[in-house]
Amino acid sequence: MTECPRISVKTALSRSGLPDLDYSLNPYVGCSHGCLYCYARDYTRQVEVAENWGSIVYVKENLLSILERETRKLKPGTVGISTITDPYQPVESVEKLTRRSIELLLKRGFRVSIQTKSPLVLRDIDILKSFRDMVDVGFTIITLDSGVASLLEPSAPVPVQRVRALTKVSEEGLKTWLFYGPVIPGFNDDVVSFTRVLEAVYGHVSLVLMDKLRVTPRVRDSLGSVVRDFEKVESLANSKTWWSSVVKAFTEVCAQLAVKCVASLAEPPTDTVRRLEVFSKKKEP
Ligand code: SF4
Repeated sequence: MTECPRISVKTALSRSGLPDLDYSLNPYVGCSHGCLYCYARDYTRQVEVAENWGSIVYVKENLLSILERETRKLKPGTVGISTITDPYQPVESVEKLTRRSIELLLKRGFRVSIQTKSPLVLRDIDILKSFRDMVDVGFTIITLDSGVASLLEPSAPVPVQRVRALTKVSEEGLKTWLFYGPVIPGFNDDVVSFTRVLEAVYGHVSLVLMDKLRVTPRVRDSLGSVVRDFEKVESLANSKTWWSSVVKAFTEVCAQLAVKCVASLAEPPTDTVRRLEVFSKKKEP
């Protein structure tokens, strides 16, 4: 059960340091999906949330009034939704902060780039379709194995729900992509696991992005408590040889299926690659 206290904030949009993302918007602090591999908590200033990851999610109760003001002043650009939480928290079904933020941003000429694990995004398909050229939607799916998913992503929507949601969003004519990350040694770093996911979304994604496990102290605590021989997993995750061989094998699968795949080679990580590859062509003129 996730507690959802309400907080007030002074800003809504944050400037992004990434070259192809102008702003980020996080309607919530914390994430009730509670993925054990999540290092977003290391970028979450509120210690109570970071240390009780998955159990506490702050609702930014005045977000919309702040966003209303900011979007009148700021130059339109691309907004990542979200960068340190999933914008489609269970509480979003009631609060509608993400929905109303997206609607406001799009009406004011800002592009939105959504990344989620939740089919709740389908609720907002009406708005997204109205601005289809200014929207893309990415789903994170690291496995189709429900046992692995329930271990590593205990409170997130199950993978099959994400596959269905991604397919539906794509069928509605929106640009969609897959994030296969993190790749965790011994869990989803094999070609069979990767191919299963890729085939499940085949024909519905224009791009696949991959990233490896990033072990921070908090990630070590949470994963280490459930993963046997975690030292070995961590050692492999830090091995350039391991990651190079994974990338090579996955790239071959992508080539066979004629899907464009990009792996993060940066330290750290992912989003830079993701944004650069996917969105640079779509920046505001
Ligand atoms: S969905 Fe993303 S932000 Fe939420 S816990 Fe999982 S990895 Fe972290």
